Amino acid sequence: MKKNKALLHGYRLKLAVFLNNEYAMRSIISNDEYKTYIEQLPALKNELQENLGKLYNTSIADACIEYHLYHSPEYYDMDIFCDMIYKRVLKHAHGHSINDNIEFENAYDLVTLNAKNKDLISKLSEISIKHGVYATRADAFGKKTYPLELINEENIEKITEETFFNINILNEINPTLTHSTTDSAPQQLKNAREGEQNSTPLFTETHNKNIEREIRINKLTTSMVAYEQQPSSAFTTNTAANQYLNAFYNTNNIKDIHKEISNKIFGLLMWDMTTLKKMKQKPAFKEISKNIKIARKKPCVHSTCNEECSDFESCLNAASRHLRIARNSIKAGTLKTAKDL
Ligand SMILES: [Zn+2]
Repeated sequence: MKKNKALLHGYRLKLAVFLNNEYAMRSIISNDEYKTYIEQLPALKNELQENLGKLYNTSIADACIEYHLYHSPEYYDMDIFCDMIYKRVLKHAHGHSINDNIEFENAYDLVTLNAKNKDLISKLSEISIKHGVYATRADAFGKKTYPLELINEENIEKITEETFFNINILNEINPTLTHSTTDSAPQQLKNAREGEQNSTPLFTETHNKNIEREIRINKLTTSMVAYEQQPSSAFTTNTAANQYLNAFYNTNNIKDIHKEISNKIFGLLMWDMTTLKKMKQKPAFKEISKNIKIARKKPCVHSTCNEECSDFESCLNAASRHLRIARNSIKAGTLKTAKDL
């Protein structure tokens, strides 16, 4: 059995969530199979806006996929999931006002009378629950900016993409069981995810499989409920919500060293420019260097690195390497490191 690794908390966990969700969103926007759905998003949002008038807000489309999943027969037997997802509908629509929320539900019903919209919402739900982020935000994602001054413990949550549910975790939750906080299921799940791919610790070990499995599922469920009730508590040590996020994300190899963080952002921006804007690496590097400095063992002496730098090739090579790491992470939809290259 693998040794337990320490659970992350505080800034390192915030960074893990931030980076993983950034990779997951790019994994969605660069997937050719999803392209047609993302292209239809603005029209869907317009139609929702026409129906809702001043009750429209930018998270209404999020509420639509949640509402769709809430009504999906495949989740009917997952009481806990249904309860949590409905709370999210209320959060993203108009949960504070019953009347306004009825207006949302009416607009949803009207818009989904059109089979094309209904299919689109269903597909966006499927993508979101597979990648653990909101596919409904993919159309606006390209416009996001990354001021480095916000990548700090205090502000990073403001620019972090919201975490959605993850089907892999949901599949392991049996809602008919009562809650318990006595086992280390999330930790074991995390260890297994970091080790063998596709392994499911909830179904491994011991001759008494049923008891083991029940306790672990209970623990995971408790963690998930705790996270939904108070997401911010997930960053505090020894809270159930903290265990949920650690189970959810690939949290190994996250260091809160400024150099590493800015290089990861550099890699993300290189990916945006070369993949989304089809720029060549050299001009992309020069453009990003105006705002972020690539960090190397032997630091570049220029405040903005360009061809006048005597070490220009080394600076560009470093950027290239971080682009490869970003590309790898985006392909996997989760953080990868130089060791994975
Ligand atoms: Zn340089």
